[in-house]
Amino acid sequence: TDITTLLLSRIRDVADYPEPGVMFKDITPLLADPAAFGALTEALAEIAERTGATKVVGLEARGFILGAPVAVRAGLGFVPVRKAGKLPGATLAQAYDLEYGSAEIEIHAEDLTADDRVLIVDDVLATGGTAEASIQLIHRAGAQVAGVAVLMELGFLDGRPRLEAALAGAPLEAL
Ligand code: IMP
Repeated sequence: TDITTLLLSRIRDVADYPEPGVMFKDITPLLADPAAFGALTEALAEIAERTGATKVVGLEARGFILGAPVAVRAGLGFVPVRKAGKLPGATLAQAYDLEYGSAEIEIHAEDLTADDRVLIVDDVLATGGTAEASIQLIHRAGAQVAGVAVLMELGFLDGRPRLEAALAGAPLEAL
């Protein structure tokens, strides 16, 4: 079976979640299917290898579920980007705008070095705000960005053009 068909068949559209007018992409059926979860892990690990990544950064929370097995599969370390206030050590923090209000994410700076090339992994790229702020965190930690890899890109929200400047030629790959 074609991997795109397999992955799409395991993503559930939930209308009006978390608020009216939003069509939420729910990946829990995919996670529950070992063939689909395995194929997704394999495809993301191949991107990590192809881009020469040395670390995987996963974005809270579904980026943890996808990024951790990818890191193990590719033989790389895993570094979490968390919502503000969750990491116990010395952090770098980055605020970014949401449609209403703002959000803040953090990373343990000591988990990245100047030699690291980081692949950012998440489930869904929507406006690109979270990924863009993550790129800024990685750069501020002194590391390079190997690319951004997501299961799904919601093209109508224009996340890709938003990320292009921050990526400076590094790939944005959506399965
Ligand atoms: P962005 O910052 O607008 O690109 O939003 C991306 C973040 O919101 C990611 O961490 C996603 O997990 C989450 N997200 C946005 N829309 C969806 C969705 O439809 N399904 C699952 N996660 C979503």
